Amino acid sequence: MGDLQSNVVCTGCSLLCDDIVVELENGKIKTTHHVCARGYGRYYQIAFKYRLLSPLKRINGKQQEISYEDAIQETIDLLKKAKNPFFYGWASTTSEAQQKGIQLAQKFKAGIDCATNSTTGIVLQQLNAKNIQIPQLEDIKDNADLLLFWGCNPTASHIRLLSKFALLPRGANTDRGIEDRVAISVDIRKTDMTKFSEEILQIEPGEDKALLEALIQIIQGKSLTEDIIANIPRKTIYNVANIIKEANFGVLFFGNGYAKTQENMDTLLRFFETVNQKGIKIGAVPLDGGYNAVGFNLNLKKHVNLELNADFQSSPPTQTPNFLIESLKQDKIDLLVVVGADPISNLPFHVCKLFAKIPIICIDYQQTPTTKVSHIVIPTTIPGVESAGTAYRLDYKPITLKKILEPPEGIYSDEEILNALLEQS
Ligand code: SF4
Repeated sequence: MGDLQSNVVCTGCSLLCDDIVVELENGKIKTTHHVCARGYGRYYQIAFKYRLLSPLKRINGKQQEISYEDAIQETIDLLKKAKNPFFYGWASTTSEAQQKGIQLAQKFKAGIDCATNSTTGIVLQQLNAKNIQIPQLEDIKDNADLLLFWGCNPTASHIRLLSKFALLPRGANTDRGIEDRVAISVDIRKTDMTKFSEEILQIEPGEDKALLEALIQIIQGKSLTEDIIANIPRKTIYNVANIIKEANFGVLFFGNGYAKTQENMDTLLRFFETVNQKGIKIGAVPLDGGYNAVGFNLNLKKHVNLELNADFQSSPPTQTPNFLIESLKQDKIDLLVVVGADPISNLPFHVCKLFAKIPIICIDYQQTPTTKVSHIVIPTTIPGVESAGTAYRLDYKPITLKKILEPPEGIYSDEEILNALLEQS
């Protein structure tokens, strides 16, 4: 048996499981234990063929290898020349890197925004403003007897959520595990999540609001007149509303699609207000990508008392919903620095077309469609494997990431790269 590293934290998703065991042999990963299929990818990526191992610069239309020192200097030169630089990404970087990024954006009077802000960030801001509780995962394990999965499928996105915290484990007041809990799924399609759910509400696309309004109505003691709402029979809606009313402690997990419109968001807030008034304890947990998305919002709040994003061209800095997209549409960005994100893969095509006019500097550990179109690429370590740091779990619990392996020669962490940009500019 090789060298065993225990209590390693996985950065495969925002659950940040801290019970991973990694077996090392001759400075390489031999095997991993406890990690799910998604997290396994984080460890496998160390040696996979798309790993970036040298800084790149586009010269005569082709990306060519350059030294780390030249990549840092080129980036500084471009930042100094830019009138409207913009820093984007951050959901998959450590808190230490996020703090350096915020300082850098401030120094260059730039915009800064997190890749998950148009979904989770904006939802969290509104939930926080209304004092709606984001429960700790350990509290869910010990006490939650109702689990409502709305437009999300943790069996694909947060694979160990059900076994570690939400459905199967036995907690202090849920000592029979799954038998002490009721799971309900609301989705536009059947997923693996529906196998675990007592009620499966397969709604029509875009009908979330109608269903949530019907539930609010019943919980308020009003009657439903329609036979079917959002494709769901009235009897089923009454049954779900009664399960909610009888819950001791419920949790609403929801995906990043739900809160895309303010109308949906307002209904969600009204749902929490209604259950609160009726004395029903229900918390909210958004399930989104990026292992440290909430860390960005916390760090920005600490630094400039803004939660979503910051425009350092204004003094004091201001925040704007959908900041990146709005700035792109208004032609306000002349240099984009992407850290730990792949906007070309994740944003709509009509937005990506706007990137064509702007030089991009990308800081990442792997090749992505965004690195492919970038002017400068600076490779990084894989956090939680080749570099340490701090990340915030989806319930805001700070988790320390360990370094268990030396990175490839000449490869630095996001934090070190951003610090070099900060100190040398
Ligand atoms: S659930 Fe998330 S954090 Fe846990 S092992 Fe899987 S990918 Fe990693």
